[in-house]
This record gives sequence, C-alpha cells and structure tokens, in this order.
Amino acid sequence: MIPSSFTFPDFEPGTVWLAGAGPGDPGLLTLHACHAVRTADVIVYDALVDARILDLARPECRLEFAGKRGGKPSPKQPDISARLVELARQNLRVLRLKGGDPFVFGRGGEEALTLAGHGIRFRIIPGVTAGIGGLAYAGIPVTHRDTNQAVTFLTGHGASGTVPDAIDWEAISRGSPVLVFYMGVKHLAAIAGHLIAAGRSADEPVAVVARASLPDQRVVVTTLNDCAAVVAAEGIEPPALIVVGEVVRLRQTLDWFGVDSDR
Ligand code: SAH
Repeated sequence: MIPSSFTFPDFEPGTVWLAGAGPGDPGLLTLHACHAVRTADVIVYDALVDARILDLARPECRLEFAGKRGGKPSPKQPDISARLVELARQNLRVLRLKGGDPFVFGRGGEEALTLAGHGIRFRIIPGVTAGIGGLAYAGIPVTHRDTNQAVTFLTGHGASGTVPDAIDWEAISRGSPVLVFYMGVKHLAAIAGHLIAAGRSADEPVAVVARASLPDQRVVVTTLNDCAAVVAAEGIEPPALIVVGEVVRLRQTLDWFGVDSDR
C-alpha cells in the first residue's frame, strides 16, 4: 500500500512528535501519524483522540491522558508542556497526539515553543482539522465556487470562558460568507446574536455538526435565528462545529456519510 520509494522518518528517542489525529475516524490519520502511534514509547493524548487510534499503539507503549475527563478541570497547559520536556529528557520517543490538527485551535504552537525553548527536537505532523474534514463528513464543503471565495475559522470560546471579545463581528459578517466556529456550542445564542446584529440575515442557514466522522455523528440544519433553541432542544453536546453560510444547503445533496454504508 505504501510505495517502497517512501520511507518514514526515524522517530528518535529523546524527541517529541506533535501530531494531529484528525476529527475521529481513524482512517483520517496521516501515514506519518499512524507511523508515530505505532512507534512511540509514550503517547500523551487529548480527550478528542478516538480510542481506536490509541489501539494502534504497541502493547508496551505508555498512554498518558492529558485532557478533561468527567467534568474535572483539564491539566494546565504549562504542565502538559513541562511533561513533554520531562519525558523527552528520559530519552523516550514522545508522541503528543491531539484531535484534528495540532496548530488549529490546538495549542500546539505553545507546546512547540516550550520544546524549542528547552532545546528538545520535535516534528510537527499536521492532521485533518475538524472544521474542514469534519464538515466534509456532513456533506458540507467549506468553499464552493458558486457560493463563497473566502471562509473564516473562529473560536467560539475565549480564554476567559466567554465569547471571544477580540472578534470584529461587523468585519467578519461583511467579509466572510462562510464562518466555521470551533468550541461554539456553549455560546451559540450569543454568537448568533452578534452575527444578526452585525447584519447577517436571521434566515441564513446554519449547520451544527457534533462528533463529526464518528459513528454517532449528529447534524442539525437550522437558521441563525433558530439555531440556539434547536441545539438546546436536540440536546447537541460538544464537540461540535457550527457552520454559517450558503454552503450548508449543499448538504441536501452531498450528505453521504451513513447514507448507504456502515459508518
Ligand atoms: N485541533 C482541533 C480543534 C481543537 S478545539 C482541530 O483541528 O480539529 C476543539 C473543538 O474542535 C471542539 O469544541 C469542536 O468544535 C471541534 N471538534 C473537534 N473534533 C470534532 C468532531 N469530531 N466533531 C465536531 N467538532 C469537533
């Protein structure tokens, strides 16, 4: 399956590989990420990494969880970064595995900066980000020639736990026909309110895609005006993406996941 002209880089002891695991479906791992999972001595993974991906690890590989579990607060980012340094100094092959892409709302940059600051060698393995690949599993292209020539990816959750205050709602409303929010479910009412106040039509289509690419993926299609009430009524929980724009209508025709195949 893999051409013999391609060889994987050596995962050297004492280095850290910072990899994206994609939105959930193990088939969306890159070859580099798969190789890393199968070679690592220790994997420090997030809540969004699917258990079937961790099953690919060697039996002697140590799995360390570094995410939120059961409502308990997640480990602090500096602690995770320090842990990576510590493990690398034990001369282990350290894999830091994150959902989606490590550099898209994944704090991968912060971890890499810490590693660089401590002189630890690292490799970045990009992953399929949920805001693109996850939406594809809902039959929603993030760009479509007839619809939009730009797309904006935003976080719906600021560092202070509220809707991010640095977003220029008028500018994005005017400038970006398609908006994809990560971490936005909790603040959906506020987000929709900001967009309508900034001039987006209350009837504009919105899709909320939860657990994209996983067997229990759920998608609701609604409008800016109704989305918060619909999401509450349907009991949609994170992780979920919110996509605002005309591309949502393509799902009517392009929905393929689970239509005539096993998920
Ligand atoms: N680095 C990740 C994003 C981490 S932020 C990436 O590139 O995809 C976490 C947010 O990502 C979640 O709150 C949700 O908005 C989104 N997300 C990640 N995986 C998802 C999935 N399988 N389905 C829907 N949303 C997902």
